[in-house]
Amino acid sequence: MAAEIISGKELAQTKRNEIALEVQKLSQEGIVPGLAVLLVGNDPASRSYVKGKDKACKETGIHSLMLEYPETITEEFLLGEIDRLNQDPSIHGILVQLPLPNSINETAVIESISPEKDVDGFHPINIGRMMTGQDAFLPCTPFGIIEMVKSKQISIEGKHVVVVGRSNIVGKPVGQLFLKENATVTYCHSRTANLKEMTLQADILVAAVGKANFLPGDYIKEGAVVIDVGVNRLESTGKLVGDVVFEEAKEKASYITPVPGGVGPMTITMLLHNTVQSAKNFALLSRK
Ligand code: NDP
Repeated sequence: MAAEIISGKELAQTKRNEIALEVQKLSQEGIVPGLAVLLVGNDPASRSYVKGKDKACKETGIHSLMLEYPETITEEFLLGEIDRLNQDPSIHGILVQLPLPNSINETAVIESISPEKDVDGFHPINIGRMMTGQDAFLPCTPFGIIEMVKSKQISIEGKHVVVVGRSNIVGKPVGQLFLKENATVTYCHSRTANLKEMTLQADILVAAVGKANFLPGDYIKEGAVVIDVGVNRLESTGKLVGDVVFEEAKEKASYITPVPGGVGPMTITMLLHNTVQSAKNFALLSRK
């Protein structure tokens, strides 16, 4: 039986329509959510991600401030720019597109963003708040994944979630969010012994490895929910593919996310969501 596709593209559109309505309502109260996106250097992939964020902001009525800097800027200069945006009342979210040039310390940059404006959810304060179950900006990709699973009324409680990948931006936080939903979570990584034995136990399998077609169909349990986070461009054809062999996996899974059109569009959507949430938080604070 072929799996049902969880279309991130469709869900993202529905959510963006809701966000646009909310932004419209807030604007009537004089609150215009604002997102600043900082791009350092000329990496084509980063530039295309940043453009996508700008376009999505414009479509939903969020004020988008795109700031581009040459690769030669110093860390001190960038920290100064972030400090200025931290103080700017028209900006509710600050995102620094990663990776940064080697001359700039990424950790120092992320930690310089005010946690109240860290709509990417990468600041250690937000990560700590998330881990301890407090209100926090959730990192956008993991947040989008949970929303996709919930959109199909797939029950998470008591399920065995196997996450392949343990990066700070995807693997680790997505496991935490599933844990919060009362799943039993196993993390796998490059040193995991018997990966196949692990993935075959997954009721929900999250692939966040970054290797094209890394997980074939025989790594997937019959009826599993498969979330493919990977975005890999095939050198031979230029085609975008995930970490999972889609054609094989869809014959085993009950639900599967495609690449492209799966997790990707949801990531930007949750960024918009977090920016609107931040604007509402600031508005509440100013009324106190
Ligand atoms: P990282 O490179 O930071 O992490 C990759 C993870 O995969 C690591 O934890 C690594 O293990 C693990 N890994 C590597 N090789 C193996 C192996 N042979 N067996 C098991 N595990 C392995 O990548 P990211 O988490 O940043 O991204 C993962 C993918 O998701 C990429 O394709 C990226 O483009 C995509 N992505 C997509 C987003 C979206 O919006 N759709 C957003 C963010 C990322 P170890 O820790 O041991 O090295």
